[in-house]
Amino acid sequence: MADYLEQNHDRIFAANKAWAEEQIARDPDFFNKLSQGQTPEYLWIGCSDSRMPAETITGMKPGEAFIHRNIANLVNNIDLNVMSVINYAVRHLQVKHIIVCGHYGCGGVRAAMTAKDLGILNPWLRNIRDIYRIHETELDSIKCDSARYDRLVELNVVEQCRNVIKTAALQQNYAENGYPVVHGWVFDFRTGMLKDLKIDFAKILADIQKIYNITE
Ligand SMILES: [Zn+2]
Repeated sequence: MADYLEQNHDRIFAANKAWAEEQIARDPDFFNKLSQGQTPEYLWIGCSDSRMPAETITGMKPGEAFIHRNIANLVNNIDLNVMSVINYAVRHLQVKHIIVCGHYGCGGVRAAMTAKDLGILNPWLRNIRDIYRIHETELDSIKCDSARYDRLVELNVVEQCRNVIKTAALQQNYAENGYPVVHGWVFDFRTGMLKDLKIDFAKILADIQKIYNITE
């Protein structure tokens, strides 16, 4: 086992060296440019799932996306981590797009659909159980278990987009500059394709501001 662990560890450094050499071969100035700072246009909020690396599936290069990932791509308003990421990305980096990206087959969403004590994950996944409750009529009308699971993945993404839109950073920056715009996407392992849920950003923002307006 020890040999395996060592090899498994060392191969990352070998791959890193090969990658760095490849970048320099393609553009000798590549790392100089990266060192100058970042001006990413996208904030990506995705699931921690190892099968959906943001840059790999979108072709984005280093410097193009500011990235936050957690179990089931949740935007919880008392999570200092995600709230700091959104604040920094919007107010300082001035990102133009915020993407919440979930994925079909999400273990976090599946766990939230399971009636079971999940220990430390209970408070985290309760955010998804609350979404089930909000959309209970629609979800319970879907008889096929896997279709209901897929739909909850989508509804979770839409609700997390709403949570991004509830933040002062988003509302104030959008009122001032006309960006960032929020998008809800779902990644499908079965095809490798991203699906745009085409949320109606302007309508959601207007609806939310009836109650959560914090542009002043
Ligand atoms: Zn997931």
